[in-house]
Order: sequence, then structure tokens, then C-alpha cells
Amino acid sequence: MTLDAFFATALSPSAFASIALLLTLIALAAAIEFVIPLHARNRWNSAHLVPNFALSTIYLAVNLFFTAAIVLALAALQQAGFGLFNALALDPLLELAFAVLILDFQAYGVHVAMHESRAMWRFHRVHHTDPAVDVTTALRQHPGESVIRFLSIAVFAAASGASPEAFALYRLLSGVQALSEHANVRLPLRLDTALSWLIATPNYHKVHHSRARGETDTNYANILTVWDRLFLTATPAHRGCSVSYGLDGFDDRESQTARALLALPFRTA
Ligand SMILES: [Zn+2]
Ligand SMILES: [Zn+2]
Repeated sequence: MTLDAFFATALSPSAFASIALLLTLIALAAAIEFVIPLHARNRWNSAHLVPNFALSTIYLAVNLFFTAAIVLALAALQQAGFGLFNALALDPLLELAFAVLILDFQAYGVHVAMHESRAMWRFHRVHHTDPAVDVTTALRQHPGESVIRFLSIAVFAAASGASPEAFALYRLLSGVQALSEHANVRLPLRLDTALSWLIATPNYHKVHHSRARGETDTNYANILTVWDRLFLTATPAHRGCSVSYGLDGFDDRESQTARALLALPFRTA
């Protein structure tokens, strides 16, 4: 992988097109939030906009470079015949489906690890400190957490021999899913509950943002909820309608600035 190829991929028109698509979907979700909100807007829905956009911008920059590095590395590994799928020669569609399953299981696993490890929780709690959850919470991620997540997905994608296309497809599905599950939208309860048997719905993921630790440490699913059900970490989605968002001790204005959130992993006490 040459440096030229790396920058050409990271700053390619298709990389910027995917960011444009993401921003369009954020605007669309924000419009739907106004029409059918799950919770009435409070002062935090406005107050969190600046820190959430600041962290989202950093996330998108980190994303450009990690995605380019991973896509180029996977293409090189594919050429070299490295990884499980490159040895098995499965039907391409079956391979795509298995790759998405493996990468989604990986996302579940690293998310659980970030709750269980005190060191990783320091980074991940930045996402959980949001006192209001809406579409702008989706990419509210400390860059330290982004590095952990990208390293994890890189290892699993490389070992499984996922193709660059399978990786890109999973990242696209994951991005759309992140926006929809954080959006402050009220789907008909029966529809949300039924869908939550397959994917993390708006209500399902809201349980994960509960202030009560017993609920925070459940509903880890990134896309498919089968992992939560398999490992007994699922809480019924309807609970998401009545949880209190945020983390105790971080509800003051000073803790919620972009600068304070970036410093949060290194804060003592
Ligand atoms: Zn979490
Ligand atoms: Zn979340």
C-alpha cells in the first residue's frame, strides 16, 4: 500500500459521496423527528448540537482514513489469498452474508468489551453521557473509541478474508442503522417491537441509553439483535419509551462541551 494510493482512496469522490449521503440521511431523520418525536424536545436537544456536531466531524475524518486503510489492506489480502473466505471459495452471495454476520458479531463483541473494561468505558461513556438522544447522538463518539472500533473490525475483516466490497456494505448498513436507532422517532409500538426481533430499532437502542446501569448494560446490538438474545443481554424494546437518558454526574453544562467530552476519558474521579 503506497501513501499515494492511501490518500487517493481516503480522499476519493466516492468517500466524499458516502459522507454526503450520511449528511442527507441525518437531515431526513431530523425532519422525521419533528413530525413524529418519541420524546418531546427539551433544552438538551438544542444544547447538545454543538458538541455532537464537533465529535461527529472528528469521527467522519477518522472514518475516511481508517476506511481507506482497511479497504486497501483487504484488497491486498484478497490478492494474497489470505483469510478464511479466500480459502473456502464460497458462493459470492453466501460469502457476503457470512461476512456481514461476522462483522456484526464483532461489533457486538467490542461494544460489550467497552462496557466491561474500565479503560475502554472511559472512552465509550462519552457516547452515553448525552442527556438527550436523537439522530445527532449517532456519531457522538470519542476518537479513542473510533480507533478501538476500527482496529477491531480490521482484525475480524482480515482474519475472515472479507472482501473490500463486503466491508464497505457492512459499513454502509451500520451507518444507516446508527442514524435510525438513535433518531428520536416514534414508530408504532407493535411495529417497533416486531422489528426489534431482527434489528436494533429506535426503541430497542434507547434502552441502551438508559441511566440505569442494569439497562445500559443490555441491548448492545449494532444491527442484528440475535447476538443479544444469544448471549442473554436483551431487554424488551418497549422499555425504550420510558427510560431516562444520560449518565449521573455529567449533566452539567461544563461536562457537556466538546472540549470537556474530548478530555472525559482522562478525567479523574
Ligand atoms: Zn454502549
Ligand atoms: Zn447509542
